Amino acid sequence: MSSNDKENVKNQTDTESATSSSGTGSDSPNRVPAETSSGLNLAALQEYLTEKLGFLGLGDEEEAVSSGIKALEETTLDGIVDYIDKKKCKNIITMAGAGISTSAGIPDFRSVGTGLYHNLAKYNLPHPQAIFELNFFQENPKPFFVLAKELYPGSFKPTLCHYFIRLLNDKGMLLRHYTQNIDTLERVAEVPEQKLVEAHGTFYTGHCLSCRKQYELEWMKERIFKDEIPICETCPGVVKPDIVFFGENLPDKFHDSVEDDFAKCDLLIILGSSLVVNPFAGLIDLPSSMTPRLLINNEKVGRASGLKSMMGLSGGLEYDKKGNTRDVAWIGDCDDGCQLLADKLGWGDELKALVKAEHEKIDRINKKEAAPQKKKAQKS
Ligand SMILES: [Zn+2]
Repeated sequence: MSSNDKENVKNQTDTESATSSSGTGSDSPNRVPAETSSGLNLAALQEYLTEKLGFLGLGDEEEAVSSGIKALEETTLDGIVDYIDKKKCKNIITMAGAGISTSAGIPDFRSVGTGLYHNLAKYNLPHPQAIFELNFFQENPKPFFVLAKELYPGSFKPTLCHYFIRLLNDKGMLLRHYTQNIDTLERVAEVPEQKLVEAHGTFYTGHCLSCRKQYELEWMKERIFKDEIPICETCPGVVKPDIVFFGENLPDKFHDSVEDDFAKCDLLIILGSSLVVNPFAGLIDLPSSMTPRLLINNEKVGRASGLKSMMGLSGGLEYDKKGNTRDVAWIGDCDDGCQLLADKLGWGDELKALVKAEHEKIDRINKKEAAPQKKKAQKS
């Protein structure tokens, strides 16, 4: 357990919520006049926003472009591989979303209409998202646990993409892995806990909502699979898995790690995220303006929002911007993209062997776990 895993009573007044944005907010055309009549000029406004919001100003990039400094020789996967080789990257940050887990069979539970919500019809949710709202949960935790049972980690195997992240770590190149996923597959893939920031929390642990006593995955799972609501052993409180609900803070580890990590970052790899949920999506703007960013995703996402680009501020990924030498988009399946990148780095076979060995190990463990139950059944 990391030092950040301390018991903490969440400050309910923090308005940052992992699940609060559907992506439309950042693109809303907030009209900010380019030349205001109130005496505020654009440069001053830019400076103000840069300072207030931590946006990178135009300066860095214009300087880089005019001085001919390139982040990458070419903005392709080969360019990234060349950069990794030359730079000897050891502070790579990976950021991941649901796209890295879909090939494991985990449904994207946040999208309505995936079928997961059908089972919940009888619970008369005021709206589908209510299931992840703390207020609703406190009144009626049942629908959440019905959904949790379907989503529960343990029956899924990490994907090739998860093992690519593990391989980056095994090679001493991974600084940190930030994930939006709550499926714990990074842990199953044995990415060390200190390298993980589970930005939207995890099913791995849970806490009593009343006394904050901590419970482990197995304890909660046992009860949830018996269709019980997990109740604290020392008080009448409900035990809620530590996934971040609407109206809850992101974990302390997120806030504690971000600044130092992104200052050190020598390559950012974004995997399977649509980059619409804040504050997670905003992480892409934090590395220095000369740090390359690679997106592996089934669509080109993360470009500057309307407001920022209108302000002439950098922000977002800039694959299509003139003079871009840092951002690369590889469009397709995350596993395919990671395998291709591994191939180009000369680790292709190693990655395949790792996936095979680890999946076999998981199968053996599952068999072992099933075996004593069978024996017990035969004896009785
Ligand atoms: Zn309790």
